[in-house]
Amino acid sequence: MDNDGQKKFMHLPEREIPVFSEVDVLVCGGGPAGIGAALAAARNGASVLLIEQRGYLGGMATVANVPAFCPYTDHEKPVIRGIGLEILEDMKGRMEVGFQEEWRGELDWVPIQAEVLKLLLDEKMQEAGVSLLFHTFIGDVIEQNGMVDAVIIHNKTGTQAVKAKIYIDATSDADLVYHAGGQLTQGGDEGELQPGTMCFMLHNLDRKRFLAHVDEYGVDLKHAINKAKSEGTLNVVRDWAGISWLNDQTAGFNFGHIFGIDGSKTEDLTHGAIAGRALVNHITEWLRTHIAGFEQAFLSLTGEQVGIRETRRIVGDYVLTSDDFQGCRSFPDDIARNAYFIDLHMANAQSGMTMVHLPPGQSHGIPYRSLLPVGIENVIVAGKCISTDRATQGATRVMPNCFAMGEAAGTAGAMVSKQGLNSSRSIDVKQLQAQLLRQGAWLGEAFNEA
Ligand SMILES: Cc1cc2nc3c(=O)[nH]c(=O)nc-3n(C[C@H](O)[C@H](O)[C@H](O)COP(=O)(O)OP(=O)(O)OC[C@H]3O[C@@H](n4cnc5c(N)ncnc54)[C@H](O)[C@@H]3O)c2cc1C
Repeated sequence: MDNDGQKKFMHLPEREIPVFSEVDVLVCGGGPAGIGAALAAARNGASVLLIEQRGYLGGMATVANVPAFCPYTDHEKPVIRGIGLEILEDMKGRMEVGFQEEWRGELDWVPIQAEVLKLLLDEKMQEAGVSLLFHTFIGDVIEQNGMVDAVIIHNKTGTQAVKAKIYIDATSDADLVYHAGGQLTQGGDEGELQPGTMCFMLHNLDRKRFLAHVDEYGVDLKHAINKAKSEGTLNVVRDWAGISWLNDQTAGFNFGHIFGIDGSKTEDLTHGAIAGRALVNHITEWLRTHIAGFEQAFLSLTGEQVGIRETRRIVGDYVLTSDDFQGCRSFPDDIARNAYFIDLHMANAQSGMTMVHLPPGQSHGIPYRSLLPVGIENVIVAGKCISTDRATQGATRVMPNCFAMGEAAGTAGAMVSKQGLNSSRSIDVKQLQAQLLRQGAWLGEAFNEA
């Protein structure tokens, strides 16, 4: 900025940059959507490069330490299957014996041990033959007439280009679509966004003492939070804390909100990191002094980044709406199904949560068209930022869904490249669905039981 508040611009001199790699499918971002996409594309025979700005995979589960996977089921059966279910079961299989016993047969709200997940994902990528490039940020694209020609990457080596036949935008903020000049929308009518949360991990807890205290005095955490809020000893807005126990001494926490953070702005992420750590420190101190079993709590970790629930959404060939959600609508081009509830966290301290549940056994379809950004031919979007209205994003955004959308995007990407097509819209969607079913996906009775 200038002294008078005017934004200043500079001219970047034209220069040649090296092409780092040319692949069939380039997956941008290594969260649940990117993981599903990369594994599916490689298993379907494509050469795949996955680029991730951190030094590991997992997205919000490992970057922000989001402590549990949302439900895989509709309370009656798993709706998220395929690669997402494989990763869940494989992670559970590597956890401590006690954890395995506790969570055997469970598919909903399974706690995440980030280190187990990171290693598992490294190994899965190696087995599938996915090339990985960590510590690399995608900062731009070269685009012409709705076709992305290359993405521009920045890392220790410098600035380079990566070319692919098809690009998968799994950045969760639709970075590729943004840089390609695609149509985007964000937040609510007033620009409101769901808050962020700095998740954290505590050790030296005594789960048995905590639970016994709840049993004996009938005083649960919600009650304690409300009492503390009214007495002014705890500065949080919502009287809820997500606690995911990894063992009797260790738990991950999704507790507290940081308002006014736009995760597509680095200044806001910076503020969120600082405010988030301060809030975690305050909450931990309160837990130590007020909650039985938490007296010796040892704070071992906060997220590398404040967890971001909502930023940009693409405008795709179809915008999935809350009417579709509530009507449990199916589409001829469904590539996954969602049974998770609309879980829209309050945008500020004065507003409330919006929660809309589907009945048990019910889900709605996610059409392939919601993954295709209007006006861009060779980018498929998967994960948090697909084309939905704001309320529906509050449901589709969760990790199991992102695995499933990613798997569909990667499978479609491999089809585009193998069939020598140049558009995500040219594939035969029936063929894509048939392949997803062979891979174990659930697309609803009409597809799976046909
Ligand atoms: C506080 C919080 C609590 C939540 N609770 C739950 C829960 O309990 N259970 C659940 O299932 N879901 C939960 N969610 C939702 C869920 O974690 C995310 O919506 C989900 O992880 C989105 O998956 P994704 O693959 O689209 O993106 P992400 O998980 O965000 O992954 C995107 C990846 O892309 C990388 N990336 C982004 N931009 C670039 C770039 N330009 N260059 C290189 N790399 C890039 C990022 O580093 C990241 O690894 C929660 C989210 C938050 C924030």
